[in-house]
Amino acid sequence: MNINDILMHYRAAREAGPESACGSKQAHGTEEQADRHAAHLNGRVEVKLGQRHRVEAYPCPFCFTWHVGREMTFAEREQWVRASDCEQRKNSA
Ligand SMILES: [Zn+2]
Repeated sequence: MNINDILMHYRAAREAGPESACGSKQAHGTEEQADRHAAHLNGRVEVKLGQRHRVEAYPCPFCFTWHVGREMTFAEREQWVRASDCEQRKNSA
């Protein structure tokens, strides 16, 4: 995952708060482990049938491990990417 994606996930997780973004979620030591777990969960029949949402690995800004959570929609990603642009503009102004 590149630095922009990591920062995007950090922003989204901070907004969601430690209880929902970190809390009781399983901690993976590496992105690769979290990716494997997400791929396993996404392989379930319920996901293929659309009865459960897809999941993705994301870096945690609270405990600095990796967790697996609901895959963000394109609109959500756009929102957090834009948040980063605003911060950069503010910081450079
Ligand atoms: Zn965490």
